[in-house]
Amino acid sequence: MAKKNNKKNNFKLHKAVTHIKLDFANDGKLERLNEVGTAFMSLVQAYIDHIFDNALKTASKFDTIPEIETKLSARYQRCAWQQAVGIMQSFFSNKRENKPVLKNITIQGNANVIKLEQSETSEFDYWLKISTLEKGSPILIPVKIYKYGVEILKTGKLCLGVTLNCKNGKWYAAFIVETDNKKEQKSGDIIGVDLGIKNLLTTASEHFGQFSDKLVNLVKKNDEKRRRKQKQNACLSKKEKPVIPLHNRKLESTIKNEIGKAINNFINSISENITVVMERLSVSEMKFKSKAMNRVLKASKIGYALDRLKQKLDSKYIHYSTVAAAYTSQACSKCEYVDKKNRPTQEKFLCKFCEHTENADFNASKNIAKRFGDDELNGLTDFRKVKSFLLERFFKRFPDARSASGGLELGFTLREISGQPLTVNQLI
Ligand SMILES: [Zn+2]
Repeated sequence: MAKKNNKKNNFKLHKAVTHIKLDFANDGKLERLNEVGTAFMSLVQAYIDHIFDNALKTASKFDTIPEIETKLSARYQRCAWQQAVGIMQSFFSNKRENKPVLKNITIQGNANVIKLEQSETSEFDYWLKISTLEKGSPILIPVKIYKYGVEILKTGKLCLGVTLNCKNGKWYAAFIVETDNKKEQKSGDIIGVDLGIKNLLTTASEHFGQFSDKLVNLVKKNDEKRRRKQKQNACLSKKEKPVIPLHNRKLESTIKNEIGKAINNFINSISENITVVMERLSVSEMKFKSKAMNRVLKASKIGYALDRLKQKLDSKYIHYSTVAAAYTSQACSKCEYVDKKNRPTQEKFLCKFCEHTENADFNASKNIAKRFGDDELNGLTDFRKVKSFLLERFFKRFPDARSASGGLELGFTLREISGQPLTVNQLI
């Protein structure tokens, strides 16, 4: 039970707002900012030297700060120390040899030294209030934050302070906002997740993670290469010679990385009291779903993504369930009519019966959610029976569709037959 309580309020997303230009500062303010920046950079460097020279591998942010002469306030000194410790921690953990030497000015300031404040006037949205070398005399720099940044600021709260950096004499600010990305979800809600190659994870209304066309092509090429190697290896092992390794580790880790990011973003978007429904994927079903893409599917690690997703859900104590996978992409999520022709393109779903149309992955995700608890359908072990089962059910609900089409598959829409427009609401 103790564990259960810990998982509350875990659903936070960190979003970065970067590249905010500080070009509304006048020369006097910039001068003072440059002074702080220069002093700060040399102090961070001095701390780095100190940690390096004394090989302080266990240096911590909370340590007593070594005494180094500076004009900066105690608050700035603390920030500089933390920054140096961060740099040196990654230096030690990456087993680097050459001492880090700072090239650009970067100030990772906490709220004690740099504050982002909402502006009272309409001309500028925000002010940056930056402490200087003079005690009690901060500078105020107006900033304009682009639209996306403002939206992010409205949805969450600033955390970890503001980072300032100076490149080629120009100053920029960046900060991280912690947002509560939880959607309106009620206890017991069901969310279907469609796993794909292009859109890694898709719910009824949102995509999480995308493989770029470039990556999809790399996967395809790699797979061809792999097959050639397998053939060669068959010959080599006959001759009892050493075989060629099949792995392309770099591509594999890129893909796994993308999958991990997509899964994290998805998990962060859901609340813990819902049920996630995904497809029960087996090799035979995957083959049936997309013969040509089967190898790509395998190479793109959909199975891996599914396992990772389950692990993540387990670790967050979120319920999940799997359902029959066959025809989730060809069935209409509104009227349940199944037809290959419902997919005019890879991206688009357009029902031949009720004319419901939307993104094909959103439609598939809705079908997956609908199949939760459908024991009759999920009990079908032979995927070939799924289509006739779904169509039988569809014709039971819309007997007119059968008599009008005279067979199992409709070659035209009911609208065309009756001459009367049917709306989805009439059908359901
Ligand atoms: Zn339909």
